[in-house]
Amino acid sequence: MLYYSLNNAAPLANFKEATIAGFAPDNGLYFPSVIPKFGSGLMGALPFIDKVTLGVEVMKPFVGNSIPEDILTDIITETAHFDFPLKKINDLVYVLELYHGPTLSFKDIGTLFMRKCLSYFLSSAQKKMVVLVATSGNTGASTIQRFKGIKDIEVVVLYPANHLSKFQEKQLNPADNIKVLKIAGSLDDCQQLVNKAFADKQLNEKLHLNTANSINIASWLPQQLYYYYAMQQWTEKAKPIVAVPSGNFGNISAGILATVSRLPINRLVAACNTNDILTNYLKKGIYEPSIVKPTLSNALDVSNPYNFERVQALYNKDFDLIKRRISSVKVDDKQTLATIKNVYEKHGYLLDPHAAVAYAALQVEIKSKQQRGMLLATAHPVKRLETINNAVGKIDTLSEIHNDMLSAKTTKPIEMNADYQTLKSYLMA
Ligand SMILES: *Cc1c(COP(=O)(O)O)cnc(C)c1O
Repeated sequence: MLYYSLNNAAPLANFKEATIAGFAPDNGLYFPSVIPKFGSGLMGALPFIDKVTLGVEVMKPFVGNSIPEDILTDIITETAHFDFPLKKINDLVYVLELYHGPTLSFKDIGTLFMRKCLSYFLSSAQKKMVVLVATSGNTGASTIQRFKGIKDIEVVVLYPANHLSKFQEKQLNPADNIKVLKIAGSLDDCQQLVNKAFADKQLNEKLHLNTANSINIASWLPQQLYYYYAMQQWTEKAKPIVAVPSGNFGNISAGILATVSRLPINRLVAACNTNDILTNYLKKGIYEPSIVKPTLSNALDVSNPYNFERVQALYNKDFDLIKRRISSVKVDDKQTLATIKNVYEKHGYLLDPHAAVAYAALQVEIKSKQQRGMLLATAHPVKRLETINNAVGKIDTLSEIHNDMLSAKTTKPIEMNADYQTLKSYLMA
């Protein structure tokens, strides 16, 4: 498999080259030159094959000759080491829980797959690397957990001040090869600093920068796997309408990728909070990033989702096709709180604020009793305990996990203004 840059001004790269580079040399996102179509054989076999076999079958065409099959099998075995249970909330709605990994969010899948690939590639290339990550909390936590103590890779995490919950901030604990920067700004500011660093040739040559979020194909592509794992467990006749809490659109674009490969999903819904850019785009065809407004579902506080370009590429930039295949629903904080409360009281299921946005989006999208919905629960509710407490009151089991985390000893982050020269001097030193 070869990958091209969506900026169309860089040479093609294989999986290994694209993974080691992160961004393409023209600062574009890499995108597969061919999207494999899996036949009815694989789709029919879904309920009968194990997670690892399925993962290898799906990822093999994307990885190509870059990784031998036995190593890929090991990587998938380790990446998919936790459960992805599909649970029924009520007659119409199911939830796929993606937060049973070590740092309690779905980011644990992409970050580990990427780290395993990098370790394999670096062992033969003997290159050192600095991984820069802008995070609203969860990617940072997962990257730290996955990269801590790894030889030849240093990690620098940037997160927006006043944006994370206490639990999330606690998870961002520096280590020998891990630096944590608390940036006075928004998530978009952090992402822009990272983008500037990548565009800075001098810095790049010195440090060999990479990134660990869905910009990197090795972190983006494995995210399609849990859509397959969900469909392994799907027993309803109707194909599901799948709602994905969407920030930078890495997750939903991986789901779209799976549907282009013919995974039988009815449609995908981008569940957004008030920072929603897609609703207007789908209505009018105008893509207009605005200023980010902080919300209770903070991982969705993104005004200009970088993976939107991948969404367009997946549909060959055909606006009418995009309009037919995906939709977008905007959910505000008031609805988010009310949804957490209603679903907990009526169905005994505890949604985190991101999953609540997706649940509320399904209420709009499910239009008849014959349809079925599935939402992706992207993080454990304990990560936003303050919001849960506001919505439903105190829950003892959650408070315990929360207090354990808060009493853990951690080192303070380095505080920094959202200023590129400051960041550059810091990185150069
Ligand atoms: C990162 C994150 C999202 C958004 O995912 P994207 O791939 O950026 O759209 C949603 N929910 C949670 C909990 C997250 O951590």
